[in-house]
Amino acid sequence: MSRKHHSQQTLESPHQSSSGLGQHPDQTLRQPLESILTTHELRRRPSRRPDYQAENKVLTSLMREMAGSPRSILRLLAESALKLCRAHSSGISLLEEENGRKIFRWHAAAGQWSPYLGGTMPREDSPCGIVLDRNAPLLFSHPERCFPIPPDVTPAPVEVLLIPFHFADEPIGTIWVVAHDDSRQFDAEDERILTSLGRFASTAYQALASLDALKSQAQARKKAEAERDRLHAQQLREHQLLQRLVERSPVAIAIMRGTDLEFTLANPAYLAITGSSDPIIGRVLLDVFPEARETGADQRLLNVIRTGRPYSLQNTKFVRNQIETWWDGEVLPLKNEAGVVDSALILAWETTARKRAEEALRQSEQRFRRILDALPAAVYTTDPEGRVTHFNSAAVVISGRVPELLTDNWCVSWKLYQPDGTPMPHGQCPMAFALKHGRAIRGAEAVLERPDGTRVPFLAYPTPLRDADGKIVGGINMLVDITERKEAEAATAFLAAIVNHSDDAIISKDLNGVITSWNKGAERLFGYTAQEAIGHPVTMLIPPDRLPEETEILSRIRRGQPMDHFETVRVRKDRSLIEVSLTVSPVRDSKGRIIGASKIARDVTERKKAEEAMRQAKEILANHAAGLERLVNERTAALQETIVDLEAFSYSVAHDMRAPLRAMQSFARILVEEHSRHLNQTATGYLDRIIQSSHRLDRLIQDVLSYTKILQADFPLEHVDLDRLVRDIIGSYPDFHSPHSTVLVAEGLPTVLGNQAWLTQCLSNLLSNAVKFVRPGVPPLVKVFAETLNGHVRVWVEDNGIGISPRDKDRIFRLFERIHSVSEYSGTGIGLTIARKAIERMGGHIGVESELGQGSRFWIELKKA
Ligand code: ADP
Repeated sequence: MSRKHHSQQTLESPHQSSSGLGQHPDQTLRQPLESILTTHELRRRPSRRPDYQAENKVLTSLMREMAGSPRSILRLLAESALKLCRAHSSGISLLEEENGRKIFRWHAAAGQWSPYLGGTMPREDSPCGIVLDRNAPLLFSHPERCFPIPPDVTPAPVEVLLIPFHFADEPIGTIWVVAHDDSRQFDAEDERILTSLGRFASTAYQALASLDALKSQAQARKKAEAERDRLHAQQLREHQLLQRLVERSPVAIAIMRGTDLEFTLANPAYLAITGSSDPIIGRVLLDVFPEARETGADQRLLNVIRTGRPYSLQNTKFVRNQIETWWDGEVLPLKNEAGVVDSALILAWETTARKRAEEALRQSEQRFRRILDALPAAVYTTDPEGRVTHFNSAAVVISGRVPELLTDNWCVSWKLYQPDGTPMPHGQCPMAFALKHGRAIRGAEAVLERPDGTRVPFLAYPTPLRDADGKIVGGINMLVDITERKEAEAATAFLAAIVNHSDDAIISKDLNGVITSWNKGAERLFGYTAQEAIGHPVTMLIPPDRLPEETEILSRIRRGQPMDHFETVRVRKDRSLIEVSLTVSPVRDSKGRIIGASKIARDVTERKKAEEAMRQAKEILANHAAGLERLVNERTAALQETIVDLEAFSYSVAHDMRAPLRAMQSFARILVEEHSRHLNQTATGYLDRIIQSSHRLDRLIQDVLSYTKILQADFPLEHVDLDRLVRDIIGSYPDFHSPHSTVLVAEGLPTVLGNQAWLTQCLSNLLSNAVKFVRPGVPPLVKVFAETLNGHVRVWVEDNGIGISPRDKDRIFRLFERIHSVSEYSGTGIGLTIARKAIERMGGHIGVESELGQGSRFWIELKKA
């Protein structure tokens, strides 16, 4: 192992502990410190004489070295110590710190240990540490016995003399000499030399240290200066650049300082805002922009300085010299050197052009929308994906709903169908097709259904919209409602079908009399096909003797006069004649001008025949009717005669019957009055019954006579005072008085138009019935009163009798109709018949209101007098 190699190693042995002296782990191997300390020997050994000459020489060379090359002074010192002390090795160790540990580094080494230059030893494991601790020269004998000096540090020391040296009263290192064998033993003279060299070392160290410090200081200063220069240059460059930028920037830049907002910077772009070329640096905001007070701009700026918070301008309007401009920008707080915000930096860039462009776009969009909205046709727009972006009110009308923007796809309609009625998915509608294929479509027919179920046929005119590069940016579609057209088409088709299927010949001609249309009916009637007829003069249908008719017809048509059911004769293709009824009407174009005539010709041959037959039948009937009438008249006259005869007969019968009846009555009475004593009771009884029956018969005859009288007699109408009449009747019949009955008559019965005699008859009959038809034992109570209504008087006779069932109400007014037998209530069944006849002949009415068992209310109604 070469020494050189050792020199790069630490003097520390790997197994060495870091513990201090006296605590060595291998105490058995290590001897106590005191046993190797032999310093006292220095005093005891005979000291050699000082060799001042050699010493001076050494010191002189040291001084020279010190002035010329201070770096090598430590090496020279070690060499000097070696030489002056005649040692085998020497060196200088300096205390240093390495990795947090105190160590001694051999900064100089001479003699046999010179290869270990630069080596280190831990302070606590080194004799140097003891020397520094005790701050005195120490002599060690065989130090390896106490200190862990690695065995490969050769040759081993026999004796070591160490002197501490100081720097600013701090021990910082040692200078030492080593004897490797007994041939050299250090003495007091060596101690003195080494102490002197130690002092020198101290000075040298000091010089070196201050030299190093100076050097590093100078270096640091140089470096700092260079850095400052660099920074300065950079700052200058940046400042210039910034200045150029600020000067040339299109962004308006200004700085305002302090509470009065004094301009400290303003670039040309900012100056341009002021609208004047006057410099503004040094002026305050309100001086340059007095209006800032109104707009509050000054407060906003001051706020930035006060709070240190920036704010943004967005599309802010600015008016100067009546010119409006718009601005975006930032206002930022600026700090002074003391780090305090004292200024506001304004950066503003004009957005007027953008604003105007936006405004123009907005206006053009608005105009476009207004145009869309004003269009009578339904129009809507979509984005490129087909989402509806706009629609006009006509689109709402046609679709029957309000489309949903950006939700409805392709079409504003609710449901879509093909013209034939099969459903059409929205994605296949004309607009979808136009956008997907980038092609405009003109008039695609479809049908939409509204949410209320109504369907609207329409034509779609979708057009893709493109930007300047031709990219599709959306679509516009117009929907035209063709309901009316469809209806017109249907109506036309319907009319055409009617015309075609009509049995009548329907033809049209122009004003020159040339046939322009010809239906199936015309084919059938005239025998020409449409092909044979159209384009030919209509005169081919007119017999030569009737040609003037056509001239007349045409002139009427030209005057706009239609002709209804003009009956004439026409000629067929086979030259046979045919009777027709013509209805000719002018045909006008859409502007109302007469351009021809339509002609309906009906074959009236059959009708004519039927009419003739009808006429004949009517004639026969008329003759027949006349005969019949005659017959009826004759028979009626005969009947009348018979009736009169019969009436006369019945009257005379009735009249003539009374004479024998009276004879019967007279004889019966004579029998009762004069011969009753010759008669037994049975005979008297029979006589009574004869008398009664004859009375009844007489009554009957009288009634029949009254009735026939009414039928025959003339009725002179006169004013009849009912009040008087009723009171007279009541006065003259005892039946109408107590105790038989009570008849109450209302005051002031009115005067009517009637016949005194017949009214007396009628009212007498009603009053007699009223007191007659009561239940046995019930005293009759009758009320007579009247009411006037619309010029008529109704007289009521109300009783408390047995009443009449509603089903008998009409019957009782007929001749001989009675509800009760004679044994129950006497009577002939003629009284009400007479009353009815009499009232009717006086132009009045009679009736009854009654319920069975509830009493009856008979009434007669006559004209008020
Ligand atoms: P007569 O009284 O002679 O029977 P009328 O012609 O006067 O004949 O009357 C016809 C019938 O009408 C009567 O038989 C009677 O049944 C019914 N009748 C008439 N007046 C009354 C009345 N006031 N109450 C009940 N029934 C009446």
